Amino acid sequence: MAHRYDDSNIFARILRGEIPNRTVHESEHSLAFEDIQPQAPVHVLVIPKGAYVGLDHFLAAASEAEQLDFNRTVAEVIRLKDLGDGFRAISNARAHGLQEVPHYHLHILGGRSLGRMLAEG
Ligand code: AMP
Repeated sequence: MAHRYDDSNIFARILRGEIPNRTVHESEHSLAFEDIQPQAPVHVLVIPKGAYVGLDHFLAAASEAEQLDFNRTVAEVIRLKDLGDGFRAISNARAHGLQEVPHYHLHILGGRSLGRMLAEG
């Protein structure tokens, strides 16, 4: 499918330095920062710096260097946030996933038991 990227989204603005973020880790191709409305004691978002709408777009179009860098950033967040007792990594995509921000991001949640994966409905 065609993945049309809209660069007015809030994460694009963060990447352009137009609005602040609480950075956890930054690398050549990726940025990890605190979610503004945390849903667990640890709630970090990892995003690529490239213009990808969602997970499937990123996997289809990002270079190997970008994908490796992204995965290493996720690993670094897990290490920095001391998530040895466990965590959940979630990526919401499009309408059924209730994705709000159309720039690919992986939620890393942890710091407590997170309950069942899906709520009813
Ligand atoms: P999603 O529904 O997967 O698109 O999630 C978007 C996430 O972005 C939500 O968890 C929001 O709390 C978070 N968010 C929105 N704006 C900001 C911001 N300026 N800084 C950090 N996180 C944000």
